[in-house]
Amino acid sequence: MPLDELIASLTVDVPDHPEPGILFRDLTPVFASGPAFRRMVAGLAAAAASDPRAAAVATSAGRDFDVVVGVEARGFLLAAAVAYDRGVGVVPVRKAGKLPRERVAADYALEYGTATLELHSDSIRAGARVLVVDDVLATGGTLGATVELVERLGGVVAAVSVVVELTALGGRERLAPHTVHALWAT
Ligand code: IMP
Repeated sequence: MPLDELIASLTVDVPDHPEPGILFRDLTPVFASGPAFRRMVAGLAAAAASDPRAAAVATSAGRDFDVVVGVEARGFLLAAAVAYDRGVGVVPVRKAGKLPRERVAADYALEYGTATLELHSDSIRAGARVLVVDDVLATGGTLGATVELVERLGGVVAAVSVVVELTALGGRERLAPHTVHALWAT
């Protein structure tokens, strides 16, 4: 079965979560399936290889990326698996107040109010090629803030890779000029 169909078939739609009117895509069954998880991780890693921007910044070591950044919390599961598979490091972008040392912070808009994401200041070396990974691209606020943090530290975003893109919410446009690679767009 094609990967997008496999992800779609395992995703459970939850109406009115976390608020009335929101259709929440629950990907936990995709993570819970061994074959689906393996293919999902491979697909996220492969996105960087197919990105012309990533090719332009390919490392001298011949890798597509030097480090993987994952966004709290499901992004951690994905980023760790991709990094382990490729033999590179993994760096967490966390919600405000969790990281203990010097950090950079970026605010982004939620439907009501704002939220803040943080990254340890020494976690990305200048010039490092970074694969940014999360599970869902909705409005793009979360990944937009993540890309901003990586770039403020001098990292070069090699690719942005997600499992599911909710196309109606305009996240892709918000992240331009970065290209988003989605394993399933709906
Ligand atoms: P955005 O900032 O609006 O793009 O929302 C993306 C973030 O919210 C990601 O970190 C997702 O984990 C989470 N998210 C938004 N919508 C959904 C959904 O339908 N299912 C699972 N996670 C979601």
